[in-house]
Amino acid sequence: MPKLDRSDFKYNAKVFEKTCLWCGTIYFASRSTAKYCSATCRGYANQAKATEEAVPYDETEKMISALLSENAYLKGQLQRYVLENEELKGKLLVR
Ligand SMILES: [Zn+2]
Repeated sequence: MPKLDRSDFKYNAKVFEKTCLWCGTIYFASRSTAKYCSATCRGYANQAKATEEAVPYDETEKMISALLSENAYLKGQLQRYVLENEELKGKLLVR
């Protein structure tokens, strides 16, 4: 739970007024490095970050499958040219 009230701390405690990076709530923290008002917000933020980082991996997967299908297509084309070449060679030999 976010500490919204300075009086939640000892009167002489060092506290920092912070803004939650996830929900924007202004709260008080005992650490200057605190980023989120609660474990819930930290959880959501980490989840969002993990999803964001998963995107480039997904793009790579897509790129690989696109390249593999292009490769298969080119192999097919190459086979066709080899056959055509054989046919032409055959015609030349007949003459
Ligand atoms: Zn928050």
